[in-house]
Amino acid sequence: MINVTKTYLPPFEEYMAILKRAWDKAWITNNGELVLELEKNLKDYLSLNNLFYCTNGTIVLQMALKALNITKEVITTPFSYVATVNALLWEGCTPVFVDVDRETLCIDANKIENAITPNTQAILATHVYGIPCDVEKIEAIAAKHNLKVIYDGAHAFGCTYKGRALLSYGDISTCSFHATKLFHTVEGGCIIFNDELAQKLLLYRSFGHIGDDYYSIGINGKNSEFHAAMGLAILPKMSEILQERKRLFSVYASLLPAELKRPAFELPDFEYNYSYLPVIFETEKCLLKVKEALAKKQINTRRYFYPSLNKLPQTLPHKVNCQIAEEISTKVLCLPVFPGLEDKDIELITTTLKEMLS
Ligand SMILES: *Cc1c(COP(=O)(O)O)cnc(C)c1O
Repeated sequence: MINVTKTYLPPFEEYMAILKRAWDKAWITNNGELVLELEKNLKDYLSLNNLFYCTNGTIVLQMALKALNITKEVITTPFSYVATVNALLWEGCTPVFVDVDRETLCIDANKIENAITPNTQAILATHVYGIPCDVEKIEAIAAKHNLKVIYDGAHAFGCTYKGRALLSYGDISTCSFHATKLFHTVEGGCIIFNDELAQKLLLYRSFGHIGDDYYSIGINGKNSEFHAAMGLAILPKMSEILQERKRLFSVYASLLPAELKRPAFELPDFEYNYSYLPVIFETEKCLLKVKEALAKKQINTRRYFYPSLNKLPQTLPHKVNCQIAEEISTKVLCLPVFPGLEDKDIELITTTLKEMLS
């Protein structure tokens, strides 16, 4: 069975050797030395000034909204994982969907201003598959209308845009380190922010208190030494992992039918992380045919993202039409890509796909 992704696991002994440091001290959570070391190493690796390692990529979205006092309307994308819009609804905000750009599949910055009302407080956009949103246009709109910008960067680990980490854009960016993501810590995530939010977010992550001093509300957003140890074991392997993914992408590129549409990975000033391999079919019927044929050969693909978030039961009260997102979400399929996938697997996948399309 070939899955759409395969969780990268470091050599067991390497993981255990790192974990042993926490084990020997019997200090396994609450800002232990492995969590602190992982935060430092992540900041170095990604060239970021401020980053907190947290429980997952959802809680950090909620912390971001809370830290920026967002309670009203938030302009957001219909083409993302459900966690993006769930975080808004969970925090009592009103999602206002703006359709996506057909090439990048990120929110269409040209359509944002039309959706702004006196109640709009923020823009929450996703760098879909790690492809950058139009960060410059979004920043300009936010400045003009006095809005906050949050990026769901769950897919953006290691991507750079104009020489900067993509995760450094916006008032706050978040990332997920879930086991299915490019870099993972089993479960986990992080929040990236500017200096002035540091104290607030530090408190929010741990119940709003430091020792016996109580300052604010807070939640439990901190992660454990067991999780941090996984991150510390995997981070040194990232350049190897990225190199192999890049190679697999070029094998796919040489074998996929040229007429098959792909999102815009090759943008100026952008370095991609090769995290996902989506292809866009002519019709949903085509997609279903290919998906089924691959499944018969024990190859699992994923309809990522489907359905368009404006079609979910929990967002129905905020319903608007997002024609492009609705259309693309029915026609996009992510193909397997992960270190360990073999060239002959890619040959089988692309041959099956071509057979079904002809
Ligand atoms: C995975 C993902 C999340 C949620 O991350 P978790 O760590 O699983 O909570 C949020 N947004 C996007 C776009 C994702 O892909």
